[in-house]
Order: sequence, then structure tokens, then C-alpha cells
Amino acid sequence: MQSPTLDSQHPPEPKLIDACVHCGFCLSTCPSYRVLGTEMDSPRGRVYLMDALNEGEIDLTPAVVSHFDSCLGCLACTTTCPSGVQYDKLIASMRPQIERNHRRPLVERLYRQFIFGLFPYPNRLRLLLIPLFIYQKLGLQKLVRQTGIVEKVSPHLAGMESNLPELSLSTFQDTLPELIPAQGKQRYRVGMILGCVQRLFFDRVNQATVRVLTTNGCEIVVPPIQGCCAALPHHQGQEEQAKTLARQMIDTFANTNVDAIIINAAGCGHTLKEYGELLQDDPEYAQKAIDFAAKVKDVQEFLADIKLTTQLSPISTAPLKLVYQDACHLLHGQKISVQPRQLLKQIPNVTLTEPLDAALCCGSAGVYNMLQPETANELGSQKVRNLVNTGATIIASANPGCTLQIAKHLELQGHQTKILHPIELLDLSIRGIQVS
Ligand code: SF4
Ligand code: SF4
Repeated sequence: MQSPTLDSQHPPEPKLIDACVHCGFCLSTCPSYRVLGTEMDSPRGRVYLMDALNEGEIDLTPAVVSHFDSCLGCLACTTTCPSGVQYDKLIASMRPQIERNHRRPLVERLYRQFIFGLFPYPNRLRLLLIPLFIYQKLGLQKLVRQTGIVEKVSPHLAGMESNLPELSLSTFQDTLPELIPAQGKQRYRVGMILGCVQRLFFDRVNQATVRVLTTNGCEIVVPPIQGCCAALPHHQGQEEQAKTLARQMIDTFANTNVDAIIINAAGCGHTLKEYGELLQDDPEYAQKAIDFAAKVKDVQEFLADIKLTTQLSPISTAPLKLVYQDACHLLHGQKISVQPRQLLKQIPNVTLTEPLDAALCCGSAGVYNMLQPETANELGSQKVRNLVNTGATIIASANPGCTLQIAKHLELQGHQTKILHPIELLDLSIRGIQVS
């Protein structure tokens, strides 16, 4: 029977819903439940809601929608659930239903349109960043943050502003050539995805990725016209936009003849690996999407697979204590947790430590910290306390969103702890440079 509120385009599948035995094991690992404490903001509560929507027992009211909006999409529940409930598939089918069948209030609609019209398009974002670059260079950012004026005007805008990292000239241009040869004997030919946030705010991570891959025998193809991988719109149910961006990405890598497509951002990697599901109804792209997704590898997954051939040197004279921050879309989304730790442990003098609640989301979750700033702030604050309590000198974080969120809360709590991508640490070690 068709639900009166949901449409027929892939509503949450009843057989996936029925797999939930309502045991509640997932509740304690759910970040939204931890902060909000309400059943309907837990995985179990949301599964109940999906069932009731499917059965036509409830409508897609603003209150119901708010319980789905509070979900970070961190997928911790998929790791915890003993019954194997595929909450990832359920929430992925629920979000587009909401966007198609629920009309949000005007201000919220405009704010969302602004986010989705801007962030997945690096060149548009670069234009906006020009005045913000000037704003930073004139020292206005510090002043504005001290007054807390943006927070008073709009907590959403404050959420956005507070995540703005230090901009540099590399923000405004792509720096990598189209083809980068392997150093020494070529073992693989790989494609590289630059990422939107990564290329604008963390060009140094892309540069380090290139050095680590090339010194380990990889020739790299960097198609010059690269858009967004679709992660931001995909995670928020903007399905048509996500499909368009995914098709463009597939076309960008057509005929590149690469062994693997490398990504160094956790959230992007998860969506790239889901292209098969995203484009399953597209007769022209369905098979292309499956073939593309099969080649996608997180850079750490790839390096652990092919094994490092380079010599690693210490990056500090004294023993160095690192804490690795699990990004949800690596840990829960791609089940990658061993490989980054294995790679980091190969650096001489390094010891790894584990934080309390390592598997709990930091609150970044794509654009969640802009859409739900209060919950995101609480989670960011808890995460930083747990990371700092390990006594580590450096935090290794493999997702730009997590890095921005953690850097913000480190600053708010007055800590100087460094935060680097694991690939940057490997790069320093290969080059024999001490971490400063
Ligand atoms: S989703 Fe899994 S862990 Fe959570 S209540 Fe249902 S069966 Fe239990
Ligand atoms: S995805 Fe994360 S926030 Fe959403 S229900 Fe699962 S554990 Fe909770």
C-alpha cells in the first residue's frame, strides 16, 4: 500500500525496517540521542517513524521532519546494531522523500538553497571567499568573533563563520598538474579527486597525498575540470543535484584508464563508493556508476593495500604521541579503521593512543554543523575534550570537515594541539622532516 505522505520513489524498504527488533543497543552510540536524549532522535525512534510513515499512520509534519534532520548520518548505529539493520540505506531513502514531500519554512529553504548552491561548486565558493580573505587579512575576523555579534544575528551564520579556516592564496587556484609521474619504477596509475573543501582549505593535504603516492610508485592523473563528488547534497537528500554531480564526476574520469581512483576525504569517499546505488535507476549511468565506485579507494586503504616501498624516518627527536580521530564515514561508512593506524604506527618514534568515545561523531557531519549548530557544538566540545585528555601532541584526522570542527573547538577551549591529516604525517616521515 502506498503511503499518503511518502511517494513511490524508493520509500524506506519495509523489509529493512522489519529487521529492527527494537533492542535499543544502538542508543548509547547515537550522537543525536546522546545530546538530545529523546527516543525519536535515536536510530530506533527514527526506524519507528519510517514505519509509521510507510503505513500512513503519521504525516510528514515539521516535528517528524525535525527528528530526521537531527540525525547526523554518522552511521554509528550500523556498526553497533546486532541485528544488522541497514540504517544507512533507510536514511538515504528517507531524506529525499522529505525534500520532495515536505515544504520547509521560507528562511530555512533559502538557507539550504544558499548552502547547496554554493558549497558543491568550488569556483562559486572561491568568489565568496575573496571578501572573506580580505576580512581575515584586515584582522576583522578576530574582532567580530570577540563581539559574538554574528551569534546574536543568526546562530546558523555563526556556525558557518566559526568554521572558516585561515585562508591563503592557494585557496583561489588549483595547484596540481594534469599528469604527475611516479618516482622510480611505476607500479600503478591512479586518478585523484581533489575534493571541494580539501582543495580550497587544505591544499597542503592534496600536495602531501601526491608526494606520498608518487614516491610509492604511482603515476597520478588529475583531471583538471573536477566538480564536487556529490557528498554534501547526497547526505542531505538533494537527490537530483547529487545525481547530476555524480554523472559529471564519472564523465571526468572516463577514459583515464586508471587502476584506482584515490580520495583523501572520508565523507567524499563514502559517497563515491555509493554511486552504484545513487544512479541505480539511470539506464545510461547505472553500470558506469558501479564500475566507477569499484575503483574508488581511500588513500590510506590504498596505501595499506599496496604497501609502502619508501623508507620512513622519525618526525620528532623525542617519542611522539599521536591520537587518530576516526571519521565516521571512514569508520562506520567504509569500515576503515585498521589501515590508518597501521600506517601511522610505521613512523619511527610514534605511539598511538585512543580517546574515550573514539567512535562517536565530532558533530561536523558534512553541513550538519551549519544546519544544527547547537547539537554540533556540544558534540565538538565533547570530542575535543576526549582527544586532548589522551595527552597526545598531534591529532591525526582524515576528513576535512572533522578537522575544521575539531580545530574550532581546540581554539575555543584554548588548546594548541596540532591537527594534521595522516597523509601529511607520512609525507613528513618520507621526507625526513621534523614536525614543527
Ligand atoms: S536499530 Fe538495531 S540496535 Fe537499534 S533498536 Fe533496532 S535492532 Fe536494536
Ligand atoms: S546515523 Fe548517527 S545520528 Fe543518525 S541515527 Fe545512526 S547513530 Fe544516530
